[in-house]
Amino acid sequence: MPEFKALVDGYRRFRLGSYREQRERYDQLSQGQAPKIMIVACSDSRVDPARVFDAAPGQMFVLRNIANLVPPLSAIQGQSSVAAALEYAVTGIAVHHIVVFGHARCGGIQAALAGDFDNPVAGRHVHAWMEFIAPARDAVRAACALSPDVDAQRALEQAGVRLSLDNLRTYPFVKEAEDAGKIMLHGVIFDIGDGALKVLDKATGQFRQVPVEL
Ligand SMILES: [Zn+2]
Repeated sequence: MPEFKALVDGYRRFRLGSYREQRERYDQLSQGQAPKIMIVACSDSRVDPARVFDAAPGQMFVLRNIANLVPPLSAIQGQSSVAAALEYAVTGIAVHHIVVFGHARCGGIQAALAGDFDNPVAGRHVHAWMEFIAPARDAVRAACALSPDVDAQRALEQAGVRLSLDNLRTYPFVKEAEDAGKIMLHGVIFDIGDGALKVLDKATGQFRQVPVEL
């Protein structure tokens, strides 16, 4: 199993390469962090937000979980990594933006649609987690039943991002910061297949591709 060795080799390249090149930045960061952006991304290994946004160390406060979901406050019981990260980002760091970063070909979304984890014994934890998206999944399934042209995977990826944005506003500290103009919420979807990034247009409610001159 050579994978861990490859990881440590990667660390050596980092230590001798970009860590050295950005020495000043790391010196500064060792005093503390003040990122202005929080990202809620999927745990999927293919969609590292720091790479997609070409971000510098210290630029983004990142929370990752299966299918980049934010559960509503009412569904959270006791300890929650999502609630803790949100609270710290908003009330501690005072980020200016929260970005829900969805992605195409999401395995969590695919499994939710296919019902892969509907057997709570086989996939107990994933099943319970993906239940947060059940209302959106049911709506997409119903739309697909009416119109077979609907791309269910894409529709649920988009609906999942919209749902998480709505759920963000169930946390009073997020809602208050947004109402006070201190924070902006954004939804985006990235496709590793063609490199396209789509941003949710608040005016139209549609996702629009970011133009890039290639
Ligand atoms: Zn995913």
